This record gives sequence, structure tokens and C-alpha cells, in this order.
Amino acid sequence: MVNIHILQVDRNRANIAELEDGIAAGRTVDDWQMPKAAQPGDLVIWYAAGKQKYIALGWVDTLPTEVREGPGPYRGQVAGMEWIEPWVDRKKVITDCGIDGGVESYQTVEEQSAAGFLKSLNLPHLIPRLRLAQPCPTCHQVMPLTGICDNCG
Ligand SMILES: [Zn+2]
Repeated sequence: MVNIHILQVDRNRANIAELEDGIAAGRTVDDWQMPKAAQPGDLVIWYAAGKQKYIALGWVDTLPTEVREGPGPYRGQVAGMEWIEPWVDRKKVITDCGIDGGVESYQTVEEQSAAGFLKSLNLPHLIPRLRLAQPCPTCHQVMPLTGICDNCG
């Protein structure tokens, strides 16, 4: 099953600069704090705390690893990062589907709320993509949406 994780940015300027760098590069410059249970192929939505808006998305690319320094306790890589255009207001999303991205440092969207959350973010085209994520037939790791397995090429 593909999960959606809401990660927060924009508590300070370095934080959002890191997100901008990642979008320019198409992947994270540094690891991102995320739930321990995040799996490759999961969708990440970034919520900008200072702006109170959802601003970007990406796809979990590696299993999170435990860290001893900096934001944690788990961080992982995100690929395919792009802006959400236009940015979507926190209060609109609460009204649409009840999800509040501003309450925790990160959270995983409940499965039954996932489709409503994506519709509220004007991302309904991702709903079938989430269902299409497939494990590699050779090594059974979830493949990136390119369909090319990181392990098996
Ligand atoms: Zn594979």
C-alpha cells in the first residue's frame, strides 16, 4: 500500500532553501525527516508552516534511516520533487477533508482520507498513480514511478 506523508518545512529560511534546492535538482540535497514507516514509492506532501500552505510534493526513494544528529529520529531521501501549483491553503484542506498539516512535525494520512486529501490539493491525477505503484518482480522492493527498479536497473 502506498501512503501519503505530510512533512513540514518553512520553520526557518534554511529549511525552505533546502526544499527549493531539492526541487531544482529533482531530489533531496539532504535527507528529510520522515516517519520510520515510510516506504519507497510513498507520496510526500510538504506543508509550509510559516505560510500555512501545502507547497510541494515528492516520492519517498529510500527507506528512512535512524539519525543521531539533526532532525529525526528518522530521515530518508525523496525523489521527483515538484511544486504544488497553486499552493493550497491549510484551512481549505481542513474544510474539504479534515486533515490539518499544521499539528505535528510530520504525519501519515489515514488511508480512507487519502483520496479526499489529494482532491483538496488539486492533485486528483495522483490517485490512480498511487494505486499503480508496483513491487519489482525480481527483488520485490517498491519501484519508483519510472518503473525502473533501483536495485535491478
Ligand atoms: Zn528490483
